[in-house]
Amino acid sequence: MSDGRDSRGLNLPFGTTLNLKGYPLVPGQIDCSFYMKSKECKFGSNCKFNHPENVPRDRYRDLSHYEAFRQHNKDRMDVSFFLCHFTKSTNPVVSQTNNIHRIQGFAHERLEAILTKKKVYDCVLPHLDAPVQAVCFTEMMLPSLSMHAEKYSPWGVAFHKSFLFNETKANQVLYCRDELFQSMKEKAQGDHDLLRYMTPFAPKYSEQLHQGTNPIDYSHEREWRTPGPVSFELKNLAYVFVPDIRVFKELMPDLHTQLCEEGVEIRVIEKVAKENSCNNSYRCQRANCWYAHTPDENDVFHWRTGQERRGEERRGEERRGEERRGEERRGEEMRRGEERRGEERRGEERRGTPGTDPRYGSPITLLSGGSSSRA
Ligand SMILES: [Zn+2]
Ligand SMILES: [Zn+2]
Repeated sequence: MSDGRDSRGLNLPFGTTLNLKGYPLVPGQIDCSFYMKSKECKFGSNCKFNHPENVPRDRYRDLSHYEAFRQHNKDRMDVSFFLCHFTKSTNPVVSQTNNIHRIQGFAHERLEAILTKKKVYDCVLPHLDAPVQAVCFTEMMLPSLSMHAEKYSPWGVAFHKSFLFNETKANQVLYCRDELFQSMKEKAQGDHDLLRYMTPFAPKYSEQLHQGTNPIDYSHEREWRTPGPVSFELKNLAYVFVPDIRVFKELMPDLHTQLCEEGVEIRVIEKVAKENSCNNSYRCQRANCWYAHTPDENDVFHWRTGQERRGEERRGEERRGEERRGEERRGEEMRRGEERRGEERRGEERRGTPGTDPRYGSPITLLSGGSSSRA
């Protein structure tokens, strides 16, 4: 780790991760043509191209409009073919009222909910002073997504642009100068379908901007929004973004299987390297780590601790249940023994002729026999 080489000792660029078959995942690099054809690559872990976790099956892709669009724009380097949505552990907007987020929890749990429910919920937008709701996407290119994920999390989904445009009325957002935004906002008062696509533009080169330690810069956003939640099928997904394939499999084993079976491509979002940050990232044994971790990594560590605790509790519950059932079984056996002995006693009583000789019958038999004979 300290000599700047990958901890596995391979001759890979620093921080390169491998897919579960052992081939490199290289964000931003084109896909390896050998691997995409045969699911194998003779260059193995030394290949410089990208090897997605699973090779998508064409028949599952949302190809209806996508392929024509792709062909038309294949030589335009800045045209993205999909729109990405990343989750966040905190609520996206804090200052707004009526802001009920229907998916709570850590960023990875929200992604899990999105993939399980097959629905991305909308939330209230900032800046508009009204409860206008939308789902937000970015059309950033793959190499820029690591920086984007710093603001959100590395957990996310991407849809084909054609699907969101045609099926969910997605539209680009107009980022405009503050004075323009204010006047447009006043004119569109009450019209959520107009307000939804407006946002004040704050580039870093603005003279009016207060340059704090972490200045706002919207110049890279390239945002799209949809009115209302986005319901989808897995075939509409272009990618599922995760920080680490193994961690994804650890947290959501069933979804990993399902995505692989349905041919949805899983892409790794690389962590932006920072001074002092932990290279073991999500796989770190946290207790003895001196390096810095991202909030999302800490969330996963919390989740793991919670899982261990829940496992303990479940095992304790099972143990107590076992004990309880044991006691019930013993009680049942005792009751049956009691009954059997009573049965035997009554059998003996029946065989001895009750009522004729008081010395052989029980007092009760004698009494009831006596009373019935009197009646
Ligand atoms: Zn290759
Ligand atoms: Zn660490």
